[in-house]
Amino acid sequence: MIYRPGRIFLSVPQMGGHEKNYVQKAIEDNWVSTFGPNLPGFEHDICQHTNARHAVALSSGTAAIHLALRVLGVGPGDEVLCSTFTFVATANPILYLGATPVFIESEADTWNMCPDTLQETIEERLKLGKRPAAILLVHLYGMPAKLKKIMAIANEYNIPVVEDAAEALGSRYSGHQVGTFGRIGVFSFNGNKIVTTSGGGAVITEDAALAEQARFFSNLAKEPAPYYQHSQMGYNYRLSNISAGIGRGQIEVLETRVKQRREVFNYYTNHLGHIEGLEFLTEPAKCFSNRWLTTILLPEGHTPESVRVALEEENIETRPLWKPMHLQPLFAGSLYYGDGLSERLFNRGLCLPSSSSLSEEDQEKVVKQLKSLLEEV
Ligand SMILES: *Cc1c(COP(=O)(O)O)cnc(C)c1O
Repeated sequence: MIYRPGRIFLSVPQMGGHEKNYVQKAIEDNWVSTFGPNLPGFEHDICQHTNARHAVALSSGTAAIHLALRVLGVGPGDEVLCSTFTFVATANPILYLGATPVFIESEADTWNMCPDTLQETIEERLKLGKRPAAILLVHLYGMPAKLKKIMAIANEYNIPVVEDAAEALGSRYSGHQVGTFGRIGVFSFNGNKIVTTSGGGAVITEDAALAEQARFFSNLAKEPAPYYQHSQMGYNYRLSNISAGIGRGQIEVLETRVKQRREVFNYYTNHLGHIEGLEFLTEPAKCFSNRWLTTILLPEGHTPESVRVALEEENIETRPLWKPMHLQPLFAGSLYYGDGLSERLFNRGLCLPSSSSLSEEDQEKVVKQLKSLLEEV
C-alpha cells in the first residue's frame, strides 16, 4: 500500500473508544492467549447483534468459510455453487477442501448470486448426476443477496447455504441480519471491514452441533483427553482474547458505523448523482445495505483504471471492483454459469473511499476530483 501524508484511503479502521478497556483488562489479568473472558463475551455480542443462536470467533473470515464448508461435510470431489463476483477469499476454501467450485453469475440489481441462474445450474448439475454439496453466496459490498428466493431454491433441492457476509455485518434483508438465513453465516473482522478485531472472523448458526464442530476443528480437533488426542485433522483457527477485546469495543459502535457508511454513500449520490451515465447501486425492496464500500459504474468514455490513476495523483485511493472468479487464472477452466454480467461490471466499476471516519472535507475533495474528471464540459 502506498502511503503519503494526507492520503484518503479506501477503508480504514475506526475505534469506538472502549476497545482499549477490554484489551487493557486482558493484559492486566494475563489473558493474553486464545482463552479469556473476551472470547465468550465477543461471541455473545455477535449473537446479540445478529440474533443468531451460536457464534464461534475465529482468526479470519477465510478460516470461517473454510470451517463452515468443512462442518457441512464438503470434501474431495464435491461441487460447491459459489458466487463468481467476489473476493478470492470466498472461493479459496473450496480448494482447501479438495472440492470444485461451480461459479454462478450475479443479477443486476444486487450484484449478488442470480436466483434464476442458481436454479438452472442446480437442475443441470443434477441431470449430470452431480449433486451440489453446498451453496456459498456472498453479500457483496454489504448489499444483501435476494435471500428469500435463494433460500426457497436451496430448500427445494435440500442444499445447505453458507452466507459469506464478510462485507455485510449489519446489513439486513426483510429486517433480519444477513448471515442468519443460511445454515451458517460468516463474518470477517479484517482491518478494512466495517468493524475489526485487527484480524479475525466468526461463524454464526442456529445449529448447536455445527457450532460445536466448528469450535472443535478450530482448536486442532483436540479431543477431550488429558493428553493430546486427535482422530481428525483440525486447524489452528482460534481468535486471541486480545483481538476479541478489540471486537467487543467495535460491536458497541457497529450501528453507528453502519449509519456513517450509509451517510458516505448518500453524500456521493447527492453530489454526483446528476452526472450523465454515472450509476450507483440502489437498494432493492427488502434490502438494507451497510454500504461497506460505495461503488460506482463509470459513464462511457472512462475506464476504471484511468479514473483510479487520476485520483491516485491526488493522493486518493480507489479500487477496481472485484475481478470475477471465473476470470481468475487460479480458476481457469472452472465451471461457470451466467451471461457475463460481473465481467461487464468489472470493466466499468470503481470503489470509492468509504471509511466511516471519512471527513466531510476529504469527501468534498473526492467529489470535486470526480466531478472534474467525469462531468461533461
Ligand atoms: C474480507 C473477505 C473475506 C475474508 O475475510 P478475511 O478475514 O480477510 O479472511 C471473505 N469474503 C469476502 C467477500 C471478503 O470481502
